[in-house]
Formats: sequence, C-alpha cells, structure tokens
Amino acid sequence: MTGGYMGKLLRVDLTSQTWTTAPLPEEAVLRQYIGGIGLGMRILLEETSPSVKATDPEAPLLLMTGPLSGTAAPSSANLAVISLNYDTPFAVATGHSHGYWAAYLKHAGYDGIVVTGRSERPVYLWVDDDRVEIRDASHLWGQDTRETERLIKRELGDEEKISVACIGPAGEAMLHGASIKNDRNHGAAKGSVGAVMGSKRLKAVAVRGTGEVPLAERSRFLEVCNRWQEAIMADPAPGEGAPSVGKLLSEAGIMRGYTYVGESHMLAGKNLTDPLWGERYARRMVEAAQNWTITPKESYNCTIKCAYDCRITTGPFAGFTASLCGGGENIEGAAAMIGVEDPGAAVALTDYFDAKGIDSSVAGSLLGMAYELYNKGVLTREETDGLDLSWGNYEAAMTLLDQMCSGEGFGGRVLRRGLKEAAQLIGRGAETCVLHIRGGGINMHDWRPAWSVLLGQIVAGAGVCWQGPGVDAWTTEPDLGYTEFAPGTIPEGKAEAVAKTQIKKLWEDTLGVCWFACWGVKGVLDYASQAIALATGWTDFDREEALTVGERMVNLQRVIAVQRGFTPADEFDISPRLLEAPAAGKAAGRSIQPYLEQMVKEYYRLMGWDETGRPTAATLERLGLAGLL
Ligand code: SF4
Repeated sequence: MTGGYMGKLLRVDLTSQTWTTAPLPEEAVLRQYIGGIGLGMRILLEETSPSVKATDPEAPLLLMTGPLSGTAAPSSANLAVISLNYDTPFAVATGHSHGYWAAYLKHAGYDGIVVTGRSERPVYLWVDDDRVEIRDASHLWGQDTRETERLIKRELGDEEKISVACIGPAGEAMLHGASIKNDRNHGAAKGSVGAVMGSKRLKAVAVRGTGEVPLAERSRFLEVCNRWQEAIMADPAPGEGAPSVGKLLSEAGIMRGYTYVGESHMLAGKNLTDPLWGERYARRMVEAAQNWTITPKESYNCTIKCAYDCRITTGPFAGFTASLCGGGENIEGAAAMIGVEDPGAAVALTDYFDAKGIDSSVAGSLLGMAYELYNKGVLTREETDGLDLSWGNYEAAMTLLDQMCSGEGFGGRVLRRGLKEAAQLIGRGAETCVLHIRGGGINMHDWRPAWSVLLGQIVAGAGVCWQGPGVDAWTTEPDLGYTEFAPGTIPEGKAEAVAKTQIKKLWEDTLGVCWFACWGVKGVLDYASQAIALATGWTDFDREEALTVGERMVNLQRVIAVQRGFTPADEFDISPRLLEAPAAGKAAGRSIQPYLEQMVKEYYRLMGWDETGRPTAATLERLGLAGLL
C-alpha cells in the first residue's frame, strides 16, 4: 500500500448492525483527493443521491483522517468529519476536530470510518485495532460529552490510550449546531455534523490503536517535518509577513492575544450591536485570565497546544475548571453574543455549551437574536415563559439550551428550529437581526471590519465556514505572496485573496494535520507537499500539484451544491445584520453590501465559474472532474 495510508476504510451499517472493511480507492484517485475532506467528499458524492437529506438513514457520516495523520508531521491530529449539511441542505458539511482520535484510528489500521443507516437503539462503536464492536449505548444516551467520554473509557478499562468522539444531548436532539466532541477540548461542528450522528443514534466512536503509519522515505520525511515545525514558531524577518497563527495561539495563546480581536472591533458583542462593548469584554477577559490557572492541552504531536483548561479564581464561578478549545470564537460565542460581563461566567457558559455538544456559533446566534429582541421589547417575558433575557443573563442562556435539548419551553418551541426558521417564527424584525449565512452559523466573530473573511464565509462551499480567510486579519500568507495585511473595508483585492487562500486552505484540509500548523506559515506549501511526497513515494509531488488539489476541493464542493439544487440567489442568502455598517469601531459606517455582487462575480471569474456560480466544463475538465455537472 502507498505510504501514509493504512489502506482501508471501516464501513459500518447501523441499520443491520454490521461492519466490514473496504480497500481505499486506487493510487491515482488518492493522489487527486489525498484524504480528509478530499476523500470524504468524493465518497459522499459517489454514494449519495442528490435527493437524500443529511439526517436520512442512507446519508453517510464520514470520519476521515489524512495521510499525515498519526505521523511525525506537525499537529498531525486532524479528524475531518464529512456529511451532508444539516443547516444548508444543498451543501456538503466539513467539520474539523483534533486531539488524539484521528491518530489513534490510523494506528488501529484505518484511514476513515463511513457510517450509514440508523440504529434502533443508541449504540457506540469500539475500534480496538482489528477488533470492532457495535455496543449498546442506552445507558449513555442523555449524558453530556464529558461524562460520555469518561464512562466509555471506564467501561473499556483504559483511561489513557483510548480516544472517544461523541455527541451530547444537543446531537441526540438533532439540534442545528450540534457538534461531535473528542478528547474533552476538541470538537467538530460545522454543518451540524453532531445532529447527523445523532440521527443515526450513534452516541460515540471509541478508538485505540497500536500500529504505525507506513512511510515511503522515513528519515527524509522526519527532516522535512522538523523544518516545518520550526517554521511554525519562527519569528518572521521584516517584510516576510506576520507570525503564523500557530505561533500566536501557542500555549493557550488566545488568552494572551484576545485583545487583538476586541481592538480590531471583530468581537461579536451583543449580537453585533456594540463593537465597543466587545473591546471592553476582550480586555476584561485577558486581565482576568492573568489570575487564573491556564493549562495548555495538546493534540497528537502538536507543540502549539492552543486548547486549554482554565481554573477560574474570580467571580461567581471561582473554583470551576473550564475545558476549552483554542480559538477566539470559543470565548466569544454565546457568551459575548448575549453580553455576559463577568469573564469567569463567560468561560463557564462556553464550557456548558461544549459539554452539551453544541457549537457556539449557531447557539450564540440563536441566543443573540432572542436577547436583542427581548432587550428591545419585541419579545416579552410571557413569550419566553418567564425567562429574563436581559443582556448578560448567562443562567437564562443555560436554561434555554436545556430547553432546546428537551424540546420544552421557549427554547424547545422556538430556538430549537434553527436560525432562519426560529427568526421566521418570531417575526417582528427577527429576520433582520439573526446572524446566519444560508441558514448556517458564521464563525463567531464580527467580520464586518474584515471583508475578505466575510466574503470567504459567504462563498464557502461547505455552507458557511472558515475556508477562505483572505489576509485582512490574524495573519498573512507569505507563500501566496501576501506579506502584509490588507485594509479590511475596501473591495479591491478581496475576491482574489479569498480565492487563493481558500484553495490553499482546502488543500491543507486533505492532509490530516491541523490548519493551525499551516495558516500563515512561511514555506508550508513546500513542507506539506514534500511531506506528502516522502510519505507516499510520489516523488514528483510539488506545491503546484498541491494547489491543484485545493482547487479541485473548492470545485467539488460547488459540484455537490449545484447537483443538490444550489441557485444563484442562495449566494446572497445572508443575514441583513452582516451587511449593515457597524455603528461604531474601526468599520463604522462601512458596509460590504454595495460591493458584494461585484466581489462575488470577480470570485466566480477567478475560479473559472460562469456568472451563475457554476464551474464551467473547461474548469471541471482541467481538474479531472469532467462530467460531474
Ligand atoms: S493547534 Fe490546537 S487544535 Fe490544532 S492540533 Fe494543536 S492543540 Fe489541537
């Protein structure tokens, strides 16, 4: 078998409660799609009819690794979760998580798991090298993600070498935004992959593996990986760009650098109504964290350690330890959207949402809408069944999430329906303030001061998600010729930056490494393509071929969308709030709206798509996708 791969997929049919193994596609196909979202989307496209919905039993849920997962490549921990998109029905969903799960699955001998069918009773899957069991999970149904991990490890008799990916009550209730959590501090949520897992009554997948990933040229592979690792943490020379995101976020770095988000007025405060409040929120958070005990939590072979546990020593949650993921969206999410003032309460609220297994972007947007309407006097206390949704009331937010999971109260009756439907049900202006793009939750910052990120979220092919960041915020992309930040609120250059960074990002999503080991790292296009060449033995694989893989991914997403009914109008199905000019802050008075149509047209042109957003026959032919549309 080609190095980097274990050579087989585990296929599980939960309707018949059976499993089997299947060989990976032939080598020529692997070279075109690599792994992760690439192989996952190809399998999904080949095996799913356009009429199938995300939560139908026949809809597959794919838990995929890449050829670098579980190797010495930096942060080789990427678990790519692929399914149909529960929030944006015509799109594919691609969620990403890290921790240890993907590496352990590789070591158990599999490149991925394809789950179809629906079990009659709750079950979990136990993969222990060659041994596979579908086990009863009735006693786990209803448990949160933390407790589910703990109970399964105890049941299987190994606290150390097992990784558990599971859903919580939000996934069981098939809530929009439901996530799949693993290794406590990690999770995948985009497209509501946790709801897809819940629809199959699959509570968890536990893995343990003792094998090793084969490599074509081991010693040279290790050399390249070492150079790549050093590049992540290198201080860029003058004129060579900004520090990489991996460097910025290293050792729980978000708790040091969060003021950047606030000062850039990108903090999603009070449902995007008050950027200046967001600036104060970020400052309070960083100050408070200086007195807390922050313990960075690593993933497999990851020296960045962006995730962390956080022992709160101040405020009403003093003494509580929260387990958090590593990005800024995490401490923003629902807490900032509803205006929580106390930093400890904000972190504890995030921990609560993670434990229930729901993503802060969808949950935060649902709550932000409800709190804004309540504080404007549009929603009454009678309608919320007595809940006081004054800005900052985190206890009510916890109750609302519980209601969404149980189906009771205002949360169960209204918010449980998801962003667009809940807004339509409320009416009275809710549609103008609910944050969404095509029904999905944005990555939770206020992107109105960073138009390339906003455009990237708008055109993202896997429903709204972070896949074409441009270079307005966080870092630059020296490998693409971007060594300086671009001004955030001008239209010029945004479409090109989104097209280029999206192609690079989606290539990186096929590898099996965490994006934080790639984003803004000088030389990473060469390091990663050399690592693939040396792992697999494809000696002439280079950065040009890598970018072609990325371009193939962007087009594959669009092919899936068009086949499943995407129309040009869907491109502009965007919350009006995201198109408004902010009232204050760095982007005050600036709106992307007058320029958006032209920016999208330019993006289409650069991608080789026609004016309706459909890849042309020539583009598909060039990328080996001929005949798919
Ligand atoms: S950078 Fe963060 S998310 Fe990525 S693998 Fe490392 S700890 Fe996990």
